Amino acid sequence: MILTNTTVLGTGVLGSQIIFQTAYHGLPVVGYDISAEALDAANHRLDALVQNYADYFDSGDRAKAQAARDSIKLTTDLAQAVQDADLVIEAVPESLAIKQATYQALAAVAPQHTVFATNSSTLLPSDIAPFTGRPDKFLALHYANHVWQNNTGEVMGTSLTDADDYEAVVDFATRTGLEAIRVLKEQPGYLLNSLLVPFLEAASHLLVNGVADAATIDKTWKLGTGAPKGPFEIYDIVGLNTAYNISSQGDDTSKKFAELLKSQYIDQGKLGAATGEGFYKYN
Ligand code: NAD
Repeated sequence: MILTNTTVLGTGVLGSQIIFQTAYHGLPVVGYDISAEALDAANHRLDALVQNYADYFDSGDRAKAQAARDSIKLTTDLAQAVQDADLVIEAVPESLAIKQATYQALAAVAPQHTVFATNSSTLLPSDIAPFTGRPDKFLALHYANHVWQNNTGEVMGTSLTDADDYEAVVDFATRTGLEAIRVLKEQPGYLLNSLLVPFLEAASHLLVNGVADAATIDKTWKLGTGAPKGPFEIYDIVGLNTAYNISSQGDDTSKKFAELLKSQYIDQGKLGAATGEGFYKYN
C-alpha cells in the first residue's frame, strides 16, 4: 500500500514540523488540534517554517516552501481531519492519558484502511496499541526536532504490527525526505533518545546539584568533545515543556529539575528556542 493522504494530530513543536515536511515533499496533509487557539499557534509555526525550508533546501527562494505552506489544511474537527487519511501521525503531548483518549476518539472515526503512527518519544507503541482499535495497523514513526535537517525517521513496530504496514511506513518516511531507520525490536527511546535522554539527564543533575551552571556545562561538553551543541542548548531546541514532562517522571533529582524548569522558565512563557527564550535567548 502507498500511503499518500496524511493527517497529523497535534500541531505543536513536532506536529507542525511533521506537517510541513510532508507537505514540502508533495503529499496532501491535514493538521488537527483541539482548539482555535492551538491552530493560531500552528499557523504562526508553519509561517515561520517557510523560511527554514527555503534557506535549507532552496538557497532562500521561498516559492516551493510557500506553495507547500499554502497546501496545508488545519481543522479542529477530528472526523473531518481523518476522513481521507491513509496515514495518521500522532504528535499530541507526551502523556499516556492524553494519547489514550486521542486514539479512542480516532479509532471511532478513522477509515478502516488508515495506518496509525505515534511520534511518542518515550512511550512504547505496545503501551498505546490497546487503545487504537487496530493494533496490527499501529506502529511508531519517530521524528527528530528540526526535521528538515535532522531527518531521522525511526520506524518501530510491536509484535502485532503488520509487516506490510511497517514497510509502507518505511516507504512513506523515505518519500517524505527522511532517512528511515529500522528499529528491530521495541526499545524505549528508540536509538536516538536511548543515547540522548541519559546524556541530558546527567547534565540536569549536574545543574540541580549545584556542580556548575548551564553555560559552563555546555562549554565543557563542546570544548571537550567538539560537539556543536551542549545539553542545555539541546534542551532549548527540544522545548522545555517536553523536558518537563520527561523529567517529572524521573528520580528525585530529575523531579527537582522539572520544578526548576516550571518555576524559572515555563511559568514565564520561556519554553525554549521556539518562544525566543529558554536557557538562552534567541532572535
Ligand atoms: P507540544 O506541546 O509542542 O505540542 C502538542 C500539541 O498537541 C499542542 O498543539 C496541543 O494543543 C495538542 N494537543 C493537546 N491535546 C491534544 C489532543 N487531545 N488531540 C490533539 N492535539 C492535542 O509537544 P511536542 O514537543 O510537539 O511533542 C508532541 C509529541 O512528539 C510527543 O509525543 C513528544 O514525545 C514527541 N516528540 C517531541 C520531540 C521534541 O523535540 N519536542 C521530538 C520527537 C518527538
